[in-house]
Amino acid sequence: MVFRPFLSPAALYFCPMRIDIITLFPEMFEGFLSQSILKRAQDKGLANLHIHQLRDYVAQDNKHKNVDDYAFGGGAGMVMAVEPIINCMEHLEKTVRYDEKIFVTPDGERLTQKRVNSLSIKENLLILCGRYKGVDQRIRDHFITMELSIGDYVLSGGELAAAVIADSVVRLIPGVLSDESSALLDSFQGDLLDAPVYTRPAEYRGMKVPEVLLSGNEAKIDEWRYQQSLEKTKLRRPDLLKD
Ligand code: SAH
Repeated sequence: MVFRPFLSPAALYFCPMRIDIITLFPEMFEGFLSQSILKRAQDKGLANLHIHQLRDYVAQDNKHKNVDDYAFGGGAGMVMAVEPIINCMEHLEKTVRYDEKIFVTPDGERLTQKRVNSLSIKENLLILCGRYKGVDQRIRDHFITMELSIGDYVLSGGELAAAVIADSVVRLIPGVLSDESSALLDSFQGDLLDAPVYTRPAEYRGMKVPEVLLSGNEAKIDEWRYQQSLEKTKLRRPDLLKD
């Protein structure tokens, strides 16, 4: 049982987050899920990730085990067919009620920390990974509740995008990071980019760590970090300061 009062006191959750990912390339997730933060989250019982091979949901009478087909109207590129995706989703929804059914796609809403925060207080998420030209529009119109893009460029498949979402969301679940407060100070959590960081040694080949960080004076250090964040944001991302 997990108490999750992290980002919104209104959303108190008591169970691990579940993320189901539908893909034609489950192996792509193997290394990713078995390392670092996502592994720790699963080992601690704070998140459960399940990867589903879409090919397993092709109807028995589909001799060619086709998950894709030619686009109506012609043109280059194959389209992921409706039936296997529906079969898979309906199978999963027999036992899970999803808060969001996400399709990752370059024409979706651009993923931001704000969206990541809001997803991190959900219980059950489903992520559908596209391939080829994408999925039949009817899936998007009738079964998907949210469409997310990880940036204005085109990948060859949705697997990397799904991994980006899973990682950014799961690390916010309380107990996953060794020090939760660190996530709250990350770039994009407020309007500022994160301040520069240093570790030992205090001097290396004549390159010194800023004196203030060695002073032990917390108020001064906070002020220095704030100023650094502000300067960096003005320089690199003035758009974040607009409001
Ligand atoms: N024809 C599509 C691109 C298909 S790329 C278009 O122009 O919009 C194949 C699949 O990769 C997509 O269906 C999507 O699932 C995934 N993908 C590619 N780029 C992505 C991005 N920037 N964000 C999220 N998913 C992406």
